[in-house]
Amino acid sequence: MRNLSYEEMVKARIRRDASYDGQFYVGARTMKIFCLPSCKARLSLEENMVFFLTREEAIDTGYRSCKRCKPDLFPNIMPNWLDKVLSYMKRNVSERINEKTLVQITGVEISTIRRHFKNHYRLTPMAFHRKLRLAYAKELIQQGVNSNELPSHCGFKSYSGFRTAFFKEFGHSPRDSRHV
Ligand SMILES: [Zn+2]
Repeated sequence: MRNLSYEEMVKARIRRDASYDGQFYVGARTMKIFCLPSCKARLSLEENMVFFLTREEAIDTGYRSCKRCKPDLFPNIMPNWLDKVLSYMKRNVSERINEKTLVQITGVEISTIRRHFKNHYRLTPMAFHRKLRLAYAKELIQQGVNSNELPSHCGFKSYSGFRTAFFKEFGHSPRDSRHV
């Protein structure tokens, strides 16, 4: 865990910056409630903000979790940028994408996106997308698309690279997939 300065946490809370969700929690001294940095609820005065690095710390200090941002459920809740990433990935199964684009469409730091994918899917965002491309290839095979054309339809440069990835994912070659 990276060290966060007091100033950085205050700024992140004021900006309601979702990329800090899960990295720290902010309590309102007056209400004894704690929130995720991105919580849309009204900000308390800076002098009433108290910061915790873990939920346990907040709870042990007698704070209750906010009903609006539900910090007790984080990261089980979907971050609001995830939908953009997943729909972008699904729209672009026929080509390789890059992480820079994910940052551009979400406005979220790549480290946040990577962390979410690691926690939820045990994969990097790029490996997750490769899985989608391979699933798409499988569909194309079942539709009767010619093997030689498959790599270019799902973002692979060569047939051998495609075949290796396909085999790893499904345990059989693209050719054998026709009979499955
Ligand atoms: Zn909240």
